[in-house]
Amino acid sequence: MGLRRTKFVLDEDRIPRAWYNIAADLPFPPPAVLHPGTGQPIGPQDLAPLFPMALIGQEVSTEREIEIPDPVRQAYALYRPSPLYRAHRLEAALQTPAHIYYKYEGVSPAGSHKPNTALAQAFFNREEGVRRLATETGAGQWGSALAFAASVFDLEVKVYMVRASYDQKPYRRNLMEVYGAEVVASPSETTGYGRRVLEETPDNPGSLGIAISEAVEDAGGREDTKYSLGSVLNHVLLHQTVIGQEAIEQMAMAGEEPEIIIGCTGGGSNFAGLTFPFLGRKLRGEADYRVIAVEPEAAPSLTRGVYRYDFGDTAQMTPLVKMHTLGHDFIPEPIHAGGLRYHGMAPLVSLLREQGVIEAQAVHQRATFEAGVQFARAEGILPAPEPTHAIKVAVDEAMRAKQEGRPTVILFNLCGHGHFDLAAYEQYMAGQLEDLAYPAERVADALRALEPLPVG
Ligand SMILES: *Cc1c(COP(=O)(O)O)cnc(C)c1O
Repeated sequence: MGLRRTKFVLDEDRIPRAWYNIAADLPFPPPAVLHPGTGQPIGPQDLAPLFPMALIGQEVSTEREIEIPDPVRQAYALYRPSPLYRAHRLEAALQTPAHIYYKYEGVSPAGSHKPNTALAQAFFNREEGVRRLATETGAGQWGSALAFAASVFDLEVKVYMVRASYDQKPYRRNLMEVYGAEVVASPSETTGYGRRVLEETPDNPGSLGIAISEAVEDAGGREDTKYSLGSVLNHVLLHQTVIGQEAIEQMAMAGEEPEIIIGCTGGGSNFAGLTFPFLGRKLRGEADYRVIAVEPEAAPSLTRGVYRYDFGDTAQMTPLVKMHTLGHDFIPEPIHAGGLRYHGMAPLVSLLREQGVIEAQAVHQRATFEAGVQFARAEGILPAPEPTHAIKVAVDEAMRAKQEGRPTVILFNLCGHGHFDLAAYEQYMAGQLEDLAYPAERVADALRALEPLPVG
C-alpha cells in the first residue's frame, strides 16, 4: 500500500539564497524611526554603537532580495530546510474536511525559529570585528539561539534573562551555558539601570523591556560589544523569511495553496517569517490569503493596544518606533508563553495590521494548552506554549470548515517544541492553569504614561 504523504522535505541546496524583504512590495511607506530625545528621524550613525553596519543597512533596505552569505547558508544546513507536515492525524481527530499543514521550526538546535536570525546576526557582527554580544531573553529561547550562533561564529555572549524565567526555567539557562554564554538574572547588579530597578523593587520579577534596557546599556558602554535583538526589528523579520520561502516550495510539492495562514505573535518574527513571502504575492496581486496573527489575551498589543510611537524598552533608551503598543511600562501577567509577553509589536506587522492586510486574534491561555495537548496526542510533537496560540486558531478554522462543509487549506507555523516547557504542561494537566485576565486598568495607566512623548 502506498503511504499518504506526511512530510514535504527539501534538499539542502534548496536553502534559500536570499532573504525576502517585504519593504519592496509595500504600497505604503513604513513610518520613520525617531530619536528618543529629539523626535527627529534617526540615521545609520545613531544605531552604529549598537549594531554592525550590514544589519543597519538591512534595517532600512527596500531591495526585494538580500543575498544570504555562504557561511550563513552553510550554518543553516545544520537544520534547514525544515520540514513541512500535513497534519493527517489532527484532521482525522477533528473530523474536518480542512487540509492542515504546519511548518516545523523545532528541528533547529535551539528548538525554535530563532537561530534563523541568530546565525545571521552573529555572522555580520563577526565580519565587522565585533568580539562580544549583549542580549536579553525571556523564556530563554532567544538566549539559547544566540548562544548557539555565537558558538558557531566564535563570539562571546552575555545574556540578561528575565528573573521570573531564570528561576522557572533553569534548563534553558543550562543550555545557554553549555553553548558558552554568560547568563545573569535581570534586573541585575551589573548595569546602572538594573541596580536602579533593584533599589526600588528588590523582588522585581523582571520583564523583556527591563532586560532590553540592560543589554542596550551593556553594549553601549563597551567598544568590543554590540547589541542583538531576537525579534521586532526589520532585519530580524527579514532573516526569518527563509521559513515562508521554503513553505511556498513545499506547498507546491503538496499541490495545494493555503487559504488561511496563521502564526503566533510575540514581537512578530516567526509570524513574519512564514507569512511575508506569501504576503508579498498578495501585495503584488498574484494571490490572495487570509493571514491571521494570534496573540495572548494577557499581552494583546495588536488587538487592543494603540498604534503610535513608543519605546522598545522600559528605560526609554531605544529609538521610538510606530507600532501597536500596550505602553513600555506595561508588564504582562506571567503566562507560560514567555515569548509572547511583550508590550509592543514589530513595526512591519503593525503596519500591515493597520492597513487591513492581516487579521489579528487574541486567545486565552487554557484554550491554547488544550489545543496543544490535542495536537501532541494527534501529531506526536509537543508544541512550545507560544505556537499553541497558532494551533488554537488553526483548530477553530478547521472546525468552521467542518460546519461549512468546505475543504479549506490551512497552514500554520509550529515555531518551536515544548521540551523545556513541561512544567507548564504539568500545571495544565493538574488543572492549575489560569486564564490570566487582560489587565485593562494597567494598560490604561501605561498608555497614559505615553502621552508626554514628543510624537503620537
Ligand atoms: C521567541 C518565540 C516566539 C515569539 O517571538 P516572535 O518574534 O513573535 O516569533 C514565539 N515562539 C517561540 C517558540 C519563540 O521562541
